[in-house]
Amino acid sequence: MSGPSPDVAVVGGGICGLTTALGLERRGVDVRVYEAASAYRPVGAGLLVQANSLLALAELGVAERVKEVGNCLRDGAIRAPDGTDLRTIDLDRVERAEFGHGFVAVHRADLQRVLLDALDTTVELDKECVSVTDAADPTVAFADGTRVSADVVVGADGIDSAVRDAVAPDVETRALDGVVYRGVADVSLSDPHTTRGVEVWGDGTYTGGASLGEDSFYWFATRPGRAAAGTEPAGDALPGLRERYASFPDPIPAVVNALDPEDVFRSGLRDVPSLDRWVRGRVALAGDAAHGMLPFAGQGAAQSIEDAVVLADSLASYYDTEAALEEYECVRKPRADRVRAESHVLGRVGTSQSGVVAGLRNRLFSVVPDRVFRRLRRRRVADTTLTA
Ligand SMILES: Cc1cc2nc3c(=O)[nH]c(=O)nc-3n(C[C@H](O)[C@H](O)[C@H](O)COP(=O)(O)OP(=O)(O)OC[C@H]3O[C@@H](n4cnc5c(N)ncnc54)[C@H](O)[C@@H]3O)c2cc1C
Repeated sequence: MSGPSPDVAVVGGGICGLTTALGLERRGVDVRVYEAASAYRPVGAGLLVQANSLLALAELGVAERVKEVGNCLRDGAIRAPDGTDLRTIDLDRVERAEFGHGFVAVHRADLQRVLLDALDTTVELDKECVSVTDAADPTVAFADGTRVSADVVVGADGIDSAVRDAVAPDVETRALDGVVYRGVADVSLSDPHTTRGVEVWGDGTYTGGASLGEDSFYWFATRPGRAAAGTEPAGDALPGLRERYASFPDPIPAVVNALDPEDVFRSGLRDVPSLDRWVRGRVALAGDAAHGMLPFAGQGAAQSIEDAVVLADSLASYYDTEAALEEYECVRKPRADRVRAESHVLGRVGTSQSGVVAGLRNRLFSVVPDRVFRRLRRRRVADTTLTA
């Protein structure tokens, strides 16, 4: 630390907010966290925590704990609906061999619990931010009528961020043609499905998931169409989903059959358009508030975690707060924009509704040499932005 530490208010206590607070705390910076929800509930679905997120979490000393509460995958497979293997992802060959971390499938609530347990700061619940005024000397206004001022305000309040207006006014999220279903099934599977992540690429649908360990499997599927913004229960769709995926390769039919209607949720696919800036004055955006992206690269949370580590390092090491925030944006925005572009390409490729295009895509995927995919995977991890 080369100067007095700023006092930081983080708005949003999701994965990004908690990781940012942990990073700041570990670097001796005063931090407060304000979360709109009235409690942390064990709801939500799974997440694939890829090697780049684990590298960032290791900086905060919690990567091993995430591996303990999640399920370390041995490998991954991309398959066609008829069961043909299009591609195997051998995590030992690139991620574990070169970077020391593979992929972990974890329940979102378990990841949040690891972060909360590691944090000394108490998250203030029931604090819904409604606006942030004066970016040069910011004050956060809450729905309960209270206000707080801080040297720096971090908007980690997700894709519908209220803080974003103080940095990039009038930005609307974009709805895309696609609906995603998610759920966690209680199901007992045998090898290799207990340690293998799977994706099945069909015509206009893309489904898969991974075991979270102990007879629990995180499943997702997409289909073309629109759904309301946000996440809503989707038990009514289950009969149709069971029919649709009955002939898909293992373990998809067993997983979809085991889903409880109460544990199936639907969200419309949305993203945040690439923002011109993430920082204005002393207000900075991070996580989905800055770069909410499509889920096809499995990188939204990963990029939020990278944001958190870089932001904490910058704030802890600069005398000049504005310069620290500028460095944060400069380091992080190009990387997140690249990953966002990747998630769009993968989304287009993975959800093509044309049988011809889907057939060509699957054929191409099965013939591209392994070394090309290894190079792409290596770059994903090697490009992880850590500044310490
Ligand atoms: C279908 C799907 C699958 C995904 N799979 C993966 C995956 O496998 N791997 C991966 O890395 N990412 C994945 N993601 C992306 C990942 O879920 C998000 O990128 C990640 O949760 C972003 O974290 P965040 O903390 O920025 O936002 P959020 O998780 O949305 O957290 C925001 C927090 O802020 C709070 N909040 C909201 N508004 C306010 C307010 N006004 N005031 C105060 N608090 C507020 C919310 O209650 C919440 O706690 C997936 C996303 C989807 C939709």
